[in-house]
Amino acid sequence: MKRDAPRLSFLILSEDSAPDACKPIEALVKRMLLLVDPVVQTQRIEFEPRSEEALLAMQGTNWKAEPNDFFYPKLVLLGRIIAAKLLEEEDAPGFERARTLDEDALIQAKEAALVRLLRLTPFWCIEAWLYQNTALVHRLCKQHCGAHLDQIKGWAADRGGLDEIPTPKTAICVGSKHNAELSQRQFPAEAVFAADKSFAAAVMALLDCPDLCAALARTWA
Ligand SMILES: [Zn+2]
Repeated sequence: MKRDAPRLSFLILSEDSAPDACKPIEALVKRMLLLVDPVVQTQRIEFEPRSEEALLAMQGTNWKAEPNDFFYPKLVLLGRIIAAKLLEEEDAPGFERARTLDEDALIQAKEAALVRLLRLTPFWCIEAWLYQNTALVHRLCKQHCGAHLDQIKGWAADRGGLDEIPTPKTAICVGSKHNAELSQRQFPAEAVFAADKSFAAAVMALLDCPDLCAALARTWA
């Protein structure tokens, strides 16, 4: 194995269908993983691009399609993409592995695989996490309008409070177009974790996945 070959990979799925919607999630996941394992080598973690099929099935409410709905076949395809990813082992693509297992082994593999399905759920929307980058949000508001500076200072002083606001996007002027920058430039992950709200809950959910913790340890060498 090459020194920097990926030791584990993630398939990120988001309801947000914007082409770069996964970039901020990827950046936040890397910061979460550093909280789970402070010596993890994140350059050895691969984030797979979403396939067109997965993108289509995730859009809007397509994932709620019923068997007779137009989008149902796409939902089935999405299920297959997720199943293949969850069953994947080192050097063994998920579907190939599934074909080699008998029924009992497949049931066991399915139970183990479902533990690998990790839900990252911010309180309201991803901005509930991204606006925790209050230093950058403050600078952006100053450039846009300057009308929300007190509100943003309040969030910096009470990070848990930001995690209780429905639709934070409508509370200030920053919107969603700076999401990549907010996730990548000095995101204060330790302080957000210390607020012990939805970000901390997501980190603790990652810690509860034994396969993930073992895979993170594989990045050390
Ligand atoms: Zn503003």
